[in-house]
Amino acid sequence: MKAFEKNIRKVEPYVPGEQPWQTVIKLNTNENPYPPAPGVAQVLHTMDADRFKLYPDPTAGELVKALADYYDVSEEQVFVGVGSDDVLSMCFLTFFNSEKPVLFPDITYSFYKVWANLYRIPYECCPVDENFRIVKEDYFRENGGIIFPNPNAPTGLYLELCEVEEIIAHNRDVIVIVDEAYIDFAGKSALELIEKYDNLIVVQTFSKARSMAGMRIGYAISNPLLIQYLNDAKYSFNSYTMSQAAIACGVEAVKDKEYFENGIRKIINTREWAKKELGRLGFTCLDSEANFIFATHPKYDIKKMYEALKNEAKIYVRYWGSERIEQYIRITVGTKDEMDALLGFLEGYTQK
Ligand code: PMP
Repeated sequence: MKAFEKNIRKVEPYVPGEQPWQTVIKLNTNENPYPPAPGVAQVLHTMDADRFKLYPDPTAGELVKALADYYDVSEEQVFVGVGSDDVLSMCFLTFFNSEKPVLFPDITYSFYKVWANLYRIPYECCPVDENFRIVKEDYFRENGGIIFPNPNAPTGLYLELCEVEEIIAHNRDVIVIVDEAYIDFAGKSALELIEKYDNLIVVQTFSKARSMAGMRIGYAISNPLLIQYLNDAKYSFNSYTMSQAAIACGVEAVKDKEYFENGIRKIINTREWAKKELGRLGFTCLDSEANFIFATHPKYDIKKMYEALKNEAKIYVRYWGSERIEQYIRITVGTKDEMDALLGFLEGYTQK
């Protein structure tokens, strides 16, 4: 081994879902199948490329203001970043510096472990119960911070806001991050607790309900003090995180509330219909409140089914094969046509 090896920060990276170039039915990374609000395309078409010779506004002020107005908070309460991955990674760096372990569920967004390892943060995973539900009492103990998604991923299960609040209330000495990447498809957001709890940070994204995964916009909302700490860390890392195009498109997307709400309704309707259809084919689906369905089938090996979907039907879903979820696939809710194609293939598969 070379001498320099011992001083290299080695990490086991997060493995994102495949992004194939060829035409496939892509139900593997929880993107939205519908285009962003029409105003976004308009902004792109009218954008003056000359503007790109300058750096963007490092505060992304217009986007911060649009979000502050939308959520009825002050601009000092909003932090924006390059997707919620960027925001979450900044949160880990900024808020999780204790010698006590950070807590998160064992079955959850697999990036949490990766950031904890990258930043050398101790962590412990709290097992979700046999129905894959987060057990709130597991978080009522000494720790160095807490993070969980609501709804959780990849299960899609939503934790009622009163239970989220209990977790926050039991942990006033540490920072609690609620990752609400999928909240728009589910129940109440923890945003309404921001004023009440000074240890709470809510993180959301434009990648799912706003159909803008490719533009990379995420944000955190909290109290001005915690947002200030986040900004201090960001300016110590990379001041120009948001591109000019992302700022302009993000502002435009936030303006169109009607389009946003209609899009969410469509996805929820398709989700509920697809759950029933999968049930008809013998699948067991968790009661997801996100834009994906976590499913298993008692009679078929799920890994083989995942491979058949991919190789025979060019339908990509997500499979991990990791402990406790070896027999589950996660299916992103696509358009009705895409789901019809999936169900058509699975109907044939389960009759074989
Ligand atoms: N949190 C959760 C729970 C997710 O599933 C994802 C999507 N992979 C993200 C955060 C990050 O999404 P983005 O960076 O696109 O905002």
